[in-house]
Amino acid sequence: MPQISYIYDFGSTSANKKLLGNKGAGLAEMLNLSLNVPPGFTITTDLCKFYHQSHGQFPEGFEAELDAAIIRLETKTNKKFGSKDAVPLLLSIRSGAVDSMPGMMDTILNLGINQDVAQRLGALTGNQAFADDTLHRFNESYHKLVGVASTDLKVQLIAAIKAVISSWMSDRAIAYRKINNISDEHGTAVNVQAMVFGNMGDTSATGVLFTRNPSSGKKALYGEFLLNAQGEDVVSGIRTPRPISKTKDQPGESLYEMMPDIYSELEKISTLLENHYADMQDIEFTIENGKLYILQTRSGKRTARAAINIAVDMVSEGKITKEEAVSRVDAESLNQMLHATISPDCATKHLAQGLPASPGAATGIIVFSPYDAEELSHHHKVILVRNDTSPEDITGMHVSCGILTARGGMTSHAAVVARGMGKPCVCGASEIKIDEKQGLLHLGDRIIKKGEVITIDGDSGKIFAGDVPTITPEFSENFSTLMSFADEIRTMEIRANAETAIDVATAIRLGAEGIGLCRTEHMFFEPQKIALMREMIVAPNDLLRQKALDQLLPLHKADFKSIFKSINGTSINVRLIDPPLHEFLPQGEKEKNALATALNLPIDIIDSRLHALHEVNPMLGHRGCRLGITYPPIYAMQIEAIVTAAIELKNEDNIDIDLEIMMPLIANELELKNLRSLALNVISTIEEKLGTEVKYQIGTMIELPRAALQANKIAEFADYFSFGTNDLTQTTYGISRDDVASFIPQYLNQKILAHDPFTTIDQEGVGELIAIAIKRGRKIKSDLKIGVCGEHGGDPASIEFFYKLGVNYVSCSPYRVPIARLSAAQAVIKTSK
Ligand code: ADP
Ligand code: MG
Ligand code: MG
Repeated sequence: MPQISYIYDFGSTSANKKLLGNKGAGLAEMLNLSLNVPPGFTITTDLCKFYHQSHGQFPEGFEAELDAAIIRLETKTNKKFGSKDAVPLLLSIRSGAVDSMPGMMDTILNLGINQDVAQRLGALTGNQAFADDTLHRFNESYHKLVGVASTDLKVQLIAAIKAVISSWMSDRAIAYRKINNISDEHGTAVNVQAMVFGNMGDTSATGVLFTRNPSSGKKALYGEFLLNAQGEDVVSGIRTPRPISKTKDQPGESLYEMMPDIYSELEKISTLLENHYADMQDIEFTIENGKLYILQTRSGKRTARAAINIAVDMVSEGKITKEEAVSRVDAESLNQMLHATISPDCATKHLAQGLPASPGAATGIIVFSPYDAEELSHHHKVILVRNDTSPEDITGMHVSCGILTARGGMTSHAAVVARGMGKPCVCGASEIKIDEKQGLLHLGDRIIKKGEVITIDGDSGKIFAGDVPTITPEFSENFSTLMSFADEIRTMEIRANAETAIDVATAIRLGAEGIGLCRTEHMFFEPQKIALMREMIVAPNDLLRQKALDQLLPLHKADFKSIFKSINGTSINVRLIDPPLHEFLPQGEKEKNALATALNLPIDIIDSRLHALHEVNPMLGHRGCRLGITYPPIYAMQIEAIVTAAIELKNEDNIDIDLEIMMPLIANELELKNLRSLALNVISTIEEKLGTEVKYQIGTMIELPRAALQANKIAEFADYFSFGTNDLTQTTYGISRDDVASFIPQYLNQKILAHDPFTTIDQEGVGELIAIAIKRGRKIKSDLKIGVCGEHGGDPASIEFFYKLGVNYVSCSPYRVPIARLSAAQAVIKTSK
């Protein structure tokens, strides 16, 4: 059996990335394109795997293979490694992982030099300064990356190869892989290459070049170079590099001006490589005595803005298809396009940090209560600072430009609501201290008073005192074009979760095709309605309850009318009241007294009613459809408001909408049967009264495991299903999503969980329930419409999963609509591959 090879000369094999790494494959491919690449060979990723598995051993025969490869390289270059008589061969030992990890691993240059060899090199080139500089560079970098240099150059070569392989497991490399979701398994290749010298004087140079601008995407060579320098000088920042092209924003005489011939050669090479890879390239080059060598090419890293511009431009240049363009833009990165961000050259130091819960930056004066937020927001931009937020804070959050909390995780109430509103939010900032009574925020060693300015960065979780410069993005034409490509490709409908006219308008502007979840309870938190709502709940008898409901009806109808108007004739899924009643109840004495007066009851009766309504575990208590079953007049009032609004709109403005009315928290088909007949009764009564018919469907939220399992029975009474994946995750896992912050981070670290199940759907568990429910539901009604609302409806990985299950639409918060549109298209492309 032939021994496996661990070494391939550049260009001797096809460019297999898994084996040769990204850099090795690129070098091989560039040689095949006849570019001027210094010769060398690649030690495969298999060696790295072997080395780590055998605790630092090389396989048998590897060193002999290495010796042979060096001899081949000597022949090719007509130089000799470690000889002080011939022309010396110096080597670079370069890391090169499968997924490129710029600057994260080690590279050792100039190996093969020592005092004697430097003498010889100086004499041969007539440039002792260059030879000494090279020796000095080698000694420094070898010492830093490998250790004390032994005098034997072959031993140094082996030690350098081991050092490069070990850098795969360096802290920063591991951290980089974690952040970028790169698997640990592939390992790195090692490229051993003949050195070329950018440090031979002023006709020599080294540089890095992007074929298009990596932050704007503009089609023009962009990059930097240094005269009389080597490799890492450019990135290390010890000398200020010069620009490649003549530009306004980069000072210094450019390569274009200083070496026009080399510049035009680079231009040709850029075009060649860009066309070959059909992508923007990041190219490393060195000029030795006026001769150009190419040392590396790879797909260039870029901002979201550049990614969009490059993808769309390349479609119009005929270089890539629309599908390719759509799959090249990271859906999640669109967040960067939709929110103001802290300017990258901001020099201000942050004073504390929390979780980056909702992207974007916000600057405003701080307030500690929703009441202050409302009052001060008329004349100021306010940031609401709370220990944690509750649903009652919603109006305060609504008028704030940003939210900061000391407690709570990425899926805490504050975070979810802030993302829904598209507002920057930093939560779980345990380093800060909040004194709500005194109106003080302890931020690092500063004490900030109510009314003073702070800035929060929801992209990084950083908190700053005072004003910090931000940039507001605009929708570019290319952004819209990319979205239109996505819309052509995707098959799933994209809706939004919204219940205020402003949010609905935002959703429609961002491309939502309807409202997938309109949470009616959010409509009751305005002062006038909350008071009536409390009267209705606390009312000691049906008569008083009905009185409060009668007063709520016209207000509720007005809510629906304004929303229905702004959905542009699309569909809207209205969910009847869902949360536990206690969320509406008065907390303070002042509110209790107001309630007592309104109901004309003594305060002790109010207290005993509140006591009776108290629940030990309200999330699993008297909520959702259980409310509709036990207090039918509440749902009846809501349905009357909804249907009347739809009919009036039709009669007055000739606006027709697709109305969907949804019952929450169904566990048992008889609950739905009962509520469905309630709805049908109310609707037909109104239709008769107003003499107009209305188009509607009655559906249910599937958010309890029992409902998923009983989907066949439930489907008999449902026109559609909408998966409430937040609650379904909560009830399947038995984890309260408001309390995950205390243990989920540990679970993720220990890899017990790969993702936060409230962010990315748990495909195995919750996902199986969804699959079962869809299958059983569609067995009864083959064309049963299926949607997903909940946070997962805006998560790219979850969207792909829902697409595969045959879901008809996903619904997400308005600001995630573009992400969902793109993800839904990417799901189609990925699945068809
Ligand atoms: P990274 O993966 O961090 O980019 P590289 O292996 O590309 O590391 O090496 C960094 C730099 O070292 C290169 O950009 C180049 O300037 C220099 N370098 C690498 N190999 C050679 C070589 N054979 N001759 C001259 N310079 C080299
Ligand atoms: Mg490089
Ligand atoms: Mg729910």
